[in-house]
Amino acid sequence: MASTPMIGILGGGQLGRMLALAAQPMGVGVRLLDPAPGSSAAQVAPTLHGDFADAALLARFCEGLTAATYEWENVPQATAEAVAARVPVYPAPAVLGVAQDRLHQKQLCARLGIALPGFRAVDSLGDLRAAVAELGLPAVLKTRRDGYDGKGQCVLRAPEDVDTAWGAMGGVALVLEQFIGFDRELSLIAVRGRDGQTACYHLGQNSHARGILRLTVAPAPGLSPELQAEARAAAEALFTALDYVGVLSIEFFEHAGRLLVNEFATRVHNTGHWTIEGAETSQFENHMRAVLGWPLGSTRLRGHSAMLNVIGDWPPRDEVLQTSGAHWHDYGKAPRAARKLGHITLTAESEAALFKTLPTLRKLVETHANG
Ligand code: AMP
Repeated sequence: MASTPMIGILGGGQLGRMLALAAQPMGVGVRLLDPAPGSSAAQVAPTLHGDFADAALLARFCEGLTAATYEWENVPQATAEAVAARVPVYPAPAVLGVAQDRLHQKQLCARLGIALPGFRAVDSLGDLRAAVAELGLPAVLKTRRDGYDGKGQCVLRAPEDVDTAWGAMGGVALVLEQFIGFDRELSLIAVRGRDGQTACYHLGQNSHARGILRLTVAPAPGLSPELQAEARAAAEALFTALDYVGVLSIEFFEHAGRLLVNEFATRVHNTGHWTIEGAETSQFENHMRAVLGWPLGSTRLRGHSAMLNVIGDWPPRDEVLQTSGAHWHDYGKAPRAARKLGHITLTAESEAALFKTLPTLRKLVETHANG
Protein backbone atom coordinates (compact mmCIF):
# COMPACT_ATOMS: atom_id res chain seq x y z
CA MET A 1 0.00 0.00 0.00
CA ALA A 2 1.18 3.53 -0.76
CA SER A 3 2.43 5.48 2.23
CA THR A 4 0.18 8.09 3.83
CA PRO A 5 0.30 11.40 1.96
CA MET A 6 1.33 14.32 4.15
CA ILE A 7 0.52 17.94 3.39
CA GLY A 8 2.27 20.89 5.05
CA ILE A 9 0.22 24.03 5.66
CA LEU A 10 1.85 27.40 6.29
CA GLY A 11 -0.37 29.27 8.74
CA GLY A 12 -2.40 27.71 11.55
CA GLY A 13 -5.53 29.82 11.93
CA GLN A 14 -9.09 28.65 11.48
CA LEU A 15 -8.58 28.10 7.76
CA GLY A 16 -5.70 25.73 8.53
CA ARG A 17 -7.87 24.03 11.13
CA MET A 18 -10.67 23.42 8.62
CA LEU A 19 -8.17 22.21 5.99
CA ALA A 20 -6.75 19.76 8.54
CA LEU A 21 -10.23 18.56 9.49
CA ALA A 22 -11.05 17.97 5.80
CA ALA A 23 -7.81 16.02 5.27
CA GLN A 24 -8.30 13.56 8.12
CA PRO A 25 -11.22 11.45 6.77
CA MET A 26 -9.31 11.04 3.48
CA GLY A 27 -6.37 9.50 5.34
CA VAL A 28 -4.18 12.50 4.59
CA GLY A 29 -1.76 13.64 7.27
CA VAL A 30 -1.11 17.33 7.83
CA ARG A 31 1.56 19.37 9.58
CA LEU A 32 1.06 23.09 10.14
CA LEU A 33 3.46 25.92 10.87
CA ASP A 34 2.36 29.06 12.65
CA PRO A 35 4.28 31.88 14.34
CA ALA A 36 1.96 31.97 17.38
CA PRO A 37 1.73 29.14 19.91
CA GLY A 38 -1.80 27.91 20.69
CA SER A 39 -3.15 28.65 17.21
CA SER A 40 -6.61 27.45 16.19
CA ALA A 41 -5.28 24.60 14.03
CA ALA A 42 -2.89 23.36 16.74
CA GLN A 43 -5.90 22.06 18.67
CA VAL A 44 -6.73 19.55 15.92
CA ALA A 45 -3.46 18.76 14.12
CA PRO A 46 0.32 18.66 14.71
CA THR A 47 1.63 22.23 14.47
CA LEU A 48 5.14 23.62 14.64
CA HIS A 49 5.60 27.07 16.10
CA GLY A 50 8.24 29.62 15.31
CA ASP A 51 9.45 32.21 12.90
CA PHE A 52 8.60 31.85 9.19
CA ALA A 53 12.21 32.94 8.49
CA ASP A 54 13.80 30.19 10.64
CA ALA A 55 15.61 27.95 8.10
CA ALA A 56 16.05 25.02 10.52
CA LEU A 57 12.37 25.14 11.44
CA LEU A 58 11.36 25.20 7.76
CA ALA A 59 13.56 22.15 7.14
CA ARG A 60 11.77 20.30 9.97
CA PHE A 61 8.40 21.43 8.60
CA CYS A 62 9.27 19.94 5.18
CA GLU A 63 10.40 16.52 6.45
CA GLY A 64 8.41 13.77 4.73
CA LEU A 65 5.88 16.12 3.11
CA THR A 66 4.17 15.14 -0.15
CA ALA A 67 3.43 18.81 -0.91
CA ALA A 68 2.81 22.07 0.91
CA THR A 69 0.28 24.89 0.73
CA TYR A 70 -0.71 27.97 2.74
CA GLU A 71 -3.82 29.22 4.45
CA TRP A 72 -2.60 32.79 4.98
CA GLU A 73 -1.91 35.09 2.03
CA ASN A 74 0.68 37.08 3.95
CA VAL A 75 3.08 34.17 4.33
CA PRO A 76 6.36 35.74 3.17
CA GLN A 77 7.12 34.74 -0.40
CA ALA A 78 10.68 33.91 0.72
CA THR A 79 9.25 31.35 3.18
CA ALA A 80 7.14 29.72 0.47
CA GLU A 81 10.20 29.67 -1.80
CA ALA A 82 12.36 28.07 0.89
CA VAL A 83 9.72 25.35 1.29
CA ALA A 84 9.42 24.97 -2.52
CA ALA A 85 13.17 24.22 -2.67
CA ARG A 86 12.37 20.98 -0.76
CA VAL A 87 8.77 20.01 -1.65
CA PRO A 88 6.21 21.14 -4.27
CA VAL A 89 4.18 24.16 -3.06
CA TYR A 90 0.67 24.88 -4.39
CA PRO A 91 -0.28 27.53 -5.38
CA ALA A 92 3.29 28.33 -6.52
CA PRO A 93 5.16 30.89 -4.34
CA ALA A 94 5.28 33.39 -7.24
CA VAL A 95 1.48 33.68 -6.92
CA LEU A 96 2.02 35.30 -3.51
CA GLY A 97 3.94 38.14 -5.15
CA VAL A 98 0.76 39.05 -7.03
CA ALA A 99 -1.74 38.25 -4.29
CA GLN A 100 -0.01 40.26 -1.55
CA ASP A 101 -0.16 43.53 -3.45
CA ARG A 102 -3.52 45.09 -4.40
CA LEU A 103 -1.92 47.00 -7.24
CA HIS A 104 -0.45 43.83 -8.73
CA GLN A 105 -3.83 42.10 -8.41
CA LYS A 106 -5.57 44.96 -10.20
CA GLN A 107 -2.91 45.21 -12.92
CA LEU A 108 -3.23 41.49 -13.61
CA CYS A 109 -7.05 41.68 -13.81
CA ALA A 110 -6.83 44.70 -16.14
CA ARG A 111 -4.29 42.92 -18.35
CA LEU A 112 -6.60 39.89 -18.59
CA GLY A 113 -9.59 42.05 -19.50
CA ILE A 114 -11.43 41.28 -16.25
CA ALA A 115 -13.70 44.22 -15.31
CA LEU A 116 -12.78 46.09 -12.12
CA PRO A 117 -13.14 49.62 -10.64
CA GLY A 118 -10.79 52.23 -12.15
CA PHE A 119 -7.57 52.49 -10.12
CA ARG A 120 -4.28 54.39 -9.87
CA ALA A 121 -1.07 53.71 -7.94
CA VAL A 122 -0.42 56.38 -5.29
CA ASP A 123 3.07 56.96 -3.85
CA SER A 124 2.91 60.69 -3.11
CA LEU A 125 0.43 63.46 -2.35
CA GLY A 126 0.92 64.62 -5.94
CA ASP A 127 -0.06 61.13 -7.19
CA LEU A 128 -3.14 61.20 -4.97
CA ARG A 129 -4.26 64.59 -6.28
CA ALA A 130 -3.73 63.46 -9.88
CA ALA A 131 -5.57 60.17 -9.25
CA VAL A 132 -8.54 62.02 -7.71
CA ALA A 133 -8.63 64.36 -10.70
CA GLU A 134 -8.68 61.39 -13.08
CA LEU A 135 -10.99 58.99 -11.25
CA GLY A 136 -13.29 61.52 -9.56
CA LEU A 137 -14.92 61.30 -6.14
CA PRO A 138 -16.01 59.42 -4.17
CA ALA A 139 -13.00 57.11 -4.23
CA VAL A 140 -11.39 54.61 -1.87
CA LEU A 141 -7.75 54.86 -0.83
CA LYS A 142 -6.25 51.52 0.20
CA THR A 143 -2.84 50.29 1.30
CA ARG A 144 -1.34 48.03 -1.34
CA ARG A 145 -0.20 45.50 1.26
CA ASP A 146 -1.44 44.02 4.55
CA GLY A 147 -5.02 45.25 4.37
CA TYR A 148 -7.77 42.89 5.54
CA ASP A 149 -11.30 43.09 6.90
CA GLY A 150 -11.59 46.72 5.73
CA LYS A 151 -8.41 47.79 7.58
CA GLY A 152 -5.98 50.11 5.82
CA GLN A 153 -8.56 51.97 3.78
CA CYS A 154 -10.36 55.27 3.72
CA VAL A 155 -13.22 56.71 1.61
CA LEU A 156 -12.65 60.14 0.06
CA ARG A 157 -15.91 61.97 -0.56
CA ALA A 158 -14.95 65.64 -0.98
CA PRO A 159 -11.79 67.44 -2.22
CA GLU A 160 -10.87 68.44 1.36
CA ASP A 161 -10.64 64.71 2.27
CA VAL A 162 -7.51 64.37 0.11
CA ASP A 163 -5.09 65.96 2.59
CA THR A 164 -6.72 64.25 5.57
CA ALA A 165 -6.52 60.84 3.89
CA TRP A 166 -2.88 61.45 2.91
CA GLY A 167 -2.10 62.50 6.49
CA ALA A 168 -3.69 59.32 7.85
CA MET A 169 -2.33 56.83 5.30
CA GLY A 170 0.54 58.44 3.38
CA GLY A 171 4.06 57.01 3.67
CA VAL A 172 3.25 53.49 2.47
CA ALA A 173 2.45 52.31 -1.06
CA LEU A 174 -1.22 52.99 -1.80
CA VAL A 175 -3.81 52.53 -4.51
CA LEU A 176 -6.81 54.74 -5.20
CA GLU A 177 -9.90 53.17 -6.72
CA GLN A 178 -13.29 54.41 -7.82
CA PHE A 179 -16.00 54.06 -5.20
CA ILE A 180 -18.65 51.72 -6.58
CA GLY A 181 -22.27 52.19 -5.50
CA PHE A 182 -22.72 48.44 -5.85
CA ASP A 183 -26.03 46.59 -5.74
CA ARG A 184 -24.47 43.77 -3.75
CA GLU A 185 -21.23 41.93 -3.01
CA LEU A 186 -20.74 38.43 -4.39
CA SER A 187 -17.90 35.96 -4.21
CA LEU A 188 -16.76 32.96 -6.15
CA ILE A 189 -14.86 30.00 -4.75
CA ALA A 190 -13.11 28.18 -7.58
CA VAL A 191 -10.58 25.36 -7.63
CA ARG A 192 -8.03 24.04 -10.10
CA GLY A 193 -6.32 20.67 -9.90
CA ARG A 194 -2.73 19.86 -10.78
CA ASP A 195 -3.97 18.41 -14.10
CA GLY A 196 -5.74 21.68 -15.01
CA GLN A 197 -9.24 20.43 -14.17
CA THR A 198 -11.36 23.28 -12.73
CA ALA A 199 -14.57 23.56 -10.74
CA CYS A 200 -16.56 26.52 -9.40
CA TYR A 201 -19.10 26.80 -6.63
CA HIS A 202 -22.23 28.91 -7.02
CA LEU A 203 -21.67 32.59 -6.32
CA GLY A 204 -22.52 33.57 -2.76
CA GLN A 205 -23.91 36.91 -1.65
CA ASN A 206 -22.00 38.63 1.16
CA SER A 207 -22.92 41.21 3.78
CA HIS A 208 -20.26 43.12 5.70
CA ALA A 209 -20.51 45.40 8.74
CA ARG A 210 -17.64 47.55 10.00
CA GLY A 211 -15.37 45.93 7.41
CA ILE A 212 -16.00 42.36 8.63
CA LEU A 213 -17.96 39.68 6.77
CA ARG A 214 -21.16 38.86 8.67
CA LEU A 215 -23.25 36.74 6.32
CA THR A 216 -22.94 34.73 3.12
CA VAL A 217 -26.03 33.37 1.38
CA ALA A 218 -25.43 30.68 -1.25
CA PRO A 219 -26.47 30.45 -3.92
CA ALA A 220 -26.86 34.24 -4.16
CA PRO A 221 -30.59 35.02 -4.46
CA GLY A 222 -31.70 35.50 -8.06
CA LEU A 223 -28.35 34.29 -9.41
CA SER A 224 -28.47 34.19 -13.21
CA PRO A 225 -26.46 31.76 -15.36
CA GLU A 226 -24.94 34.82 -17.10
CA LEU A 227 -23.54 36.23 -13.85
CA GLN A 228 -22.21 32.82 -12.82
CA ALA A 229 -20.57 32.45 -16.24
CA GLU A 230 -18.97 35.91 -15.93
CA ALA A 231 -17.49 34.96 -12.57
CA ARG A 232 -16.27 31.64 -13.91
CA ALA A 233 -14.58 33.36 -16.86
CA ALA A 234 -12.68 35.63 -14.45
CA ALA A 235 -11.52 32.60 -12.44
CA GLU A 236 -10.46 30.71 -15.57
CA ALA A 237 -8.43 33.68 -16.81
CA LEU A 238 -6.65 34.02 -13.46
CA PHE A 239 -6.08 30.26 -13.24
CA THR A 240 -4.35 30.22 -16.62
CA ALA A 241 -2.33 33.39 -16.05
CA LEU A 242 -1.07 32.20 -12.65
CA ASP A 243 -0.71 28.50 -13.60
CA TYR A 244 -2.76 28.03 -10.47
CA VAL A 245 -3.35 24.98 -8.29
CA GLY A 246 -5.77 25.01 -5.35
CA VAL A 247 -8.73 27.12 -4.25
CA LEU A 248 -8.95 30.70 -5.49
CA SER A 249 -11.50 33.11 -4.01
CA ILE A 250 -12.68 36.18 -5.90
CA GLU A 251 -14.74 38.99 -4.35
CA PHE A 252 -16.91 40.99 -6.74
CA PHE A 253 -19.18 44.00 -6.68
CA GLU A 254 -22.36 43.55 -8.71
CA HIS A 255 -23.07 46.87 -10.36
CA ALA A 256 -25.61 47.53 -13.10
CA GLY A 257 -25.90 43.83 -13.85
CA ARG A 258 -22.13 43.32 -14.27
CA LEU A 259 -19.39 42.00 -12.03
CA LEU A 260 -16.37 44.09 -11.03
CA VAL A 261 -13.51 42.40 -9.19
CA ASN A 262 -12.76 43.92 -5.78
CA GLU A 263 -9.97 41.55 -4.83
CA PHE A 264 -8.96 37.91 -4.88
CA ALA A 265 -7.40 35.65 -2.27
CA THR A 266 -5.15 32.74 -3.21
CA ARG A 267 -6.53 30.44 -0.55
CA VAL A 268 -9.72 29.05 0.94
CA HIS A 269 -11.98 31.86 2.09
CA ASN A 270 -14.47 32.87 4.77
CA THR A 271 -17.14 33.39 2.08
CA GLY A 272 -16.76 29.69 1.17
CA HIS A 273 -17.39 28.21 4.63
CA TRP A 274 -20.98 27.42 3.62
CA THR A 275 -19.59 24.70 1.32
CA ILE A 276 -18.92 22.41 4.32
CA GLU A 277 -22.62 21.63 4.61
CA GLY A 278 -23.96 23.38 1.51
CA ALA A 279 -22.03 21.68 -1.29
CA GLU A 280 -21.24 18.10 -2.16
CA THR A 281 -17.50 18.70 -1.58
CA SER A 282 -16.29 21.49 0.72
CA GLN A 283 -13.79 24.13 -0.37
CA PHE A 284 -11.38 22.62 2.18
CA GLU A 285 -11.62 19.07 0.80
CA ASN A 286 -11.29 20.36 -2.75
CA HIS A 287 -8.23 22.43 -1.88
CA MET A 288 -6.57 19.36 -0.36
CA ARG A 289 -7.54 17.21 -3.36
CA ALA A 290 -6.07 19.83 -5.72
CA VAL A 291 -2.80 20.07 -3.80
CA LEU A 292 -2.53 16.27 -3.67
CA GLY A 293 -3.08 16.00 -7.42
CA TRP A 294 -6.30 14.04 -6.86
CA PRO A 295 -9.50 14.40 -8.91
CA LEU A 296 -11.64 17.30 -7.70
CA GLY A 297 -14.98 16.70 -6.00
CA SER A 298 -18.36 17.90 -7.20
CA THR A 299 -19.26 21.49 -6.25
CA ARG A 300 -22.98 20.72 -6.62
CA LEU A 301 -25.28 22.46 -4.15
CA ARG A 302 -26.89 20.60 -1.30
CA GLY A 303 -29.90 22.91 -0.89
CA HIS A 304 -29.62 26.56 0.15
CA SER A 305 -27.22 27.82 2.80
CA ALA A 306 -26.47 30.84 4.92
CA MET A 307 -23.21 31.26 6.85
CA LEU A 308 -23.19 33.63 9.83
CA ASN A 309 -19.85 34.67 11.28
CA VAL A 310 -19.56 34.70 15.06
CA ILE A 311 -17.68 37.92 15.86
CA GLY A 312 -16.27 38.79 19.30
CA ASP A 313 -18.72 36.76 21.37
CA TRP A 314 -21.01 33.75 21.08
CA PRO A 315 -24.78 33.52 20.81
CA PRO A 316 -26.41 30.98 23.19
CA ARG A 317 -25.42 27.61 21.75
CA ASP A 318 -28.51 25.60 22.61
CA GLU A 319 -30.82 28.23 21.19
CA VAL A 320 -28.85 28.18 17.93
CA LEU A 321 -28.77 24.40 17.74
CA GLN A 322 -32.49 24.08 18.39
CA THR A 323 -32.92 25.71 14.99
CA SER A 324 -33.45 23.03 12.37
CA GLY A 325 -30.61 23.08 9.82
CA ALA A 326 -28.16 25.02 12.04
CA HIS A 327 -24.55 23.82 12.35
CA TRP A 328 -22.06 25.09 14.92
CA HIS A 329 -18.38 25.70 14.06
CA ASP A 330 -16.06 26.77 16.90
CA TYR A 331 -12.47 27.69 16.01
CA GLY A 332 -11.27 27.32 19.61
CA LYS A 333 -10.25 30.96 19.99
CA ALA A 334 -10.64 33.11 23.12
CA PRO A 335 -13.39 35.76 22.73
CA ARG A 336 -12.09 39.23 21.90
CA ALA A 337 -13.79 42.22 20.29
CA ALA A 338 -14.01 41.96 16.47
CA ARG A 339 -12.37 38.51 16.43
CA LYS A 340 -13.77 35.70 14.24
CA LEU A 341 -14.54 32.98 16.79
CA GLY A 342 -16.52 30.62 14.62
CA HIS A 343 -19.44 30.44 12.26
CA ILE A 344 -22.91 28.99 12.07
CA THR A 345 -24.24 27.51 8.88
CA LEU A 346 -27.94 27.24 8.27
CA THR A 347 -29.10 24.88 5.55
CA ALA A 348 -32.56 24.47 4.06
CA GLU A 349 -34.14 22.69 1.12
CA SER A 350 -35.46 25.87 -0.49
CA GLU A 351 -34.62 29.56 -0.51
CA ALA A 352 -38.05 30.30 1.00
CA ALA A 353 -37.38 27.91 3.89
CA LEU A 354 -33.92 29.44 4.42
CA PHE A 355 -35.26 32.98 4.58
CA LYS A 356 -38.02 31.91 6.95
CA THR A 357 -35.49 30.84 9.60
CA LEU A 358 -32.54 33.10 8.86
CA PRO A 359 -33.77 36.45 10.31
CA THR A 360 -34.28 35.04 13.83
CA LEU A 361 -30.91 33.26 13.79
CA ARG A 362 -29.16 36.31 12.37
CA LYS A 363 -30.65 38.51 15.09
CA LEU A 364 -29.52 36.05 17.76
CA VAL A 365 -25.95 36.06 16.41
CA GLU A 366 -25.78 39.82 15.89
CA THR A 367 -27.26 40.69 19.30
CA HIS A 368 -24.47 38.78 21.00
CA ALA A 369 -21.67 39.86 18.68
CA ASN A 370 -18.92 42.10 20.01
CA GLY A 371 -17.37 44.19 17.27
P1 AMP B 1 -11.66 45.20 0.88
O1 AMP B 1 -10.74 45.18 2.05
O2 AMP B 1 -11.07 45.72 -0.37
O3 AMP B 1 -12.36 43.88 0.67
O4 AMP B 1 -12.86 46.20 1.26
C1 AMP B 1 -13.71 45.98 2.37
C2 AMP B 1 -15.11 46.45 2.05
O5 AMP B 1 -15.12 47.87 1.74
C3 AMP B 1 -15.70 45.80 0.80
O6 AMP B 1 -16.25 44.55 1.12
C4 AMP B 1 -16.73 46.82 0.39
O7 AMP B 1 -17.90 46.70 1.17
C5 AMP B 1 -16.05 48.14 0.71
N1 AMP B 1 -15.33 48.64 -0.48
C6 AMP B 1 -14.05 48.35 -0.81
N2 AMP B 1 -13.70 48.91 -1.99
C7 AMP B 1 -14.79 49.57 -2.43
C8 AMP B 1 -15.08 50.36 -3.60
N3 AMP B 1 -14.16 50.56 -4.55
N4 AMP B 1 -16.32 50.88 -3.72
C9 AMP B 1 -17.25 50.68 -2.75
N5 AMP B 1 -17.05 49.96 -1.64
C10 AMP B 1 -15.83 49.41 -1.46
